[in-house]
Amino acid sequence: MSHSTQNEVLDVAIVGGGIVGAAMAIGLLARDINVTIYERSNAFSEVGAGIGFTPNAESAMKVLDPAIHAAFKKVAVQNTTDWFTWSNSGNREEGDLDEPIYKMYVGERGFEGCHRAEFLNEMLNLIPENRVKFRKSLVAVEDRGDDKKLLMRFQDGTTAQADLVVGCDGIHSKVRRLVLGDNHPAAHAGYTHKYAFRGLVPMEKALPLLGHERAYNRHMYMGPGAHMLTFPVASGLLLNVVAFVHDEAEWTEEKLTAMATKQEAVKAFENFTPFTRGIIDLLPETLHRWAIFDMAANPAPTYVNGRVCLAGDAAHASAPHHGAGAGMGIEDAAALVELLQAVHSQAARAACPHRLPELLSAALATYDHIRLERTQWLMQTSRFVGEMYEWQHSRDPAQICHEIDSRSRQIWSYNIDEMIRQTRQDFTRRLWALHAPVSDNAHIKFQTGFLQQTPVVDRMLCTTLTV
Ligand SMILES: Cc1cc2nc3c(=O)[nH]c(=O)nc-3n(C[C@H](O)[C@H](O)[C@H](O)COP(=O)(O)OP(=O)(O)OC[C@H]3O[C@@H](n4cnc5c(N)ncnc54)[C@H](O)[C@@H]3O)c2cc1C
Repeated sequence: MSHSTQNEVLDVAIVGGGIVGAAMAIGLLARDINVTIYERSNAFSEVGAGIGFTPNAESAMKVLDPAIHAAFKKVAVQNTTDWFTWSNSGNREEGDLDEPIYKMYVGERGFEGCHRAEFLNEMLNLIPENRVKFRKSLVAVEDRGDDKKLLMRFQDGTTAQADLVVGCDGIHSKVRRLVLGDNHPAAHAGYTHKYAFRGLVPMEKALPLLGHERAYNRHMYMGPGAHMLTFPVASGLLLNVVAFVHDEAEWTEEKLTAMATKQEAVKAFENFTPFTRGIIDLLPETLHRWAIFDMAANPAPTYVNGRVCLAGDAAHASAPHHGAGAGMGIEDAAALVELLQAVHSQAARAACPHRLPELLSAALATYDHIRLERTQWLMQTSRFVGEMYEWQHSRDPAQICHEIDSRSRQIWSYNIDEMIRQTRQDFTRRLWALHAPVSDNAHIKFQTGFLQQTPVVDRMLCTTLTV
């Protein structure tokens, strides 16, 4: 898909160049839609840690642009089996190698991990340099009326204009505060009372303890007050370790990270099996603690205000216990990019009866409708499953396995093609409703509540949406 002929009909501004902002920009460029990323940092950067993508996320990457999926697969480390294993490990007395209680098939080459920075760098190769403005920290967006573009103001005193502003600016999103208002309960994320020690262990150091199968596959270790996930990254040269710990206290640090020692991690896992404690021992002496914040206690009631909307963590930051937060943001991007393609193709037609703000308003209403329920469920289930891993709800292995299975399936098996189909249908219905009261048009056929495309609908919409 060519990026050369930028069409000026629709100007999209993406605030924030993290994984979600970058993926969305690539999807728009692949559809010849004019897009600029405004990123507050000097350069794109990601934390030095691993990230895994569930099968639904991989499908959404393909919808955005197959090149994103290829970029991920280029840096992803192939697990040696297609199974994710969970062990009950919270028992000091058990033998050296704690036994798995559950395994789930992740699909062929499914749920692979990679180094975050490697993936982001691969994506950046797909975005022309002139599409990104660094050192642009957004502070305000002014709506000057439907006949004018939105005006963005940045901390350095500069301004820029766009027809649509998409906030992909992460968990502490400025755009979310602009969309909801500074005093809205959902404007700020809250502490989940868990933090994580994150570390990358050289594989040659990890292999003697873990053995080949555990080192090169995704494995979760569960127990009281803590849990730990390991998977291989960086061409299999590093083992990604994320050790979560329950914390009764409030998070009082200004930043989300604080210095810590390995001794603190050792203490948090002192009731775990010798094997699990052995993995903690592999971590470096000096560590960081990462506070886990989310929006589960105060979810945003909407992701849209006027021609400004939210995606990724800016919209629905969740705790990372399903390993699905970024993937959910990539799903958002797939839905929004499809809608913007439809808006773009209609707005470009001279005979189209709709004005751009009207088209965007219908598209964003569809976006909210399609994305709100699933993403808000993710926030709740992520918290729940994190607590489950730490035996806060039950110690019964059968119940733990049931919860893991049903909740994971709901994330992994999500049908992205069906989401796109429903997105197009809903948008079509909203456009139709703008100008054609249903009672006056009995010849329009309805099926399961959605408008079917007929020649008259197509003429009305000035489009060739496939529904
Ligand atoms: C320990 C841990 C493990 C995780 N593991 C996984 C996993 O395995 N799989 C998964 O799918 N998810 C995982 N997640 C979740 C995932 O990291 C996030 O969902 C994802 O990184 C969010 O991406 P984003 O692009 O929405 O936001 P971010 O990555 O936070 O990017 C936001 C960008 O916006 C910029 N920005 C912020 N404010 C402004 C402003 N005012 N103006 C301009 N730019 C701005 C920032 O500099 C940044 O570049 C994990 C999270 C944690 C904490």
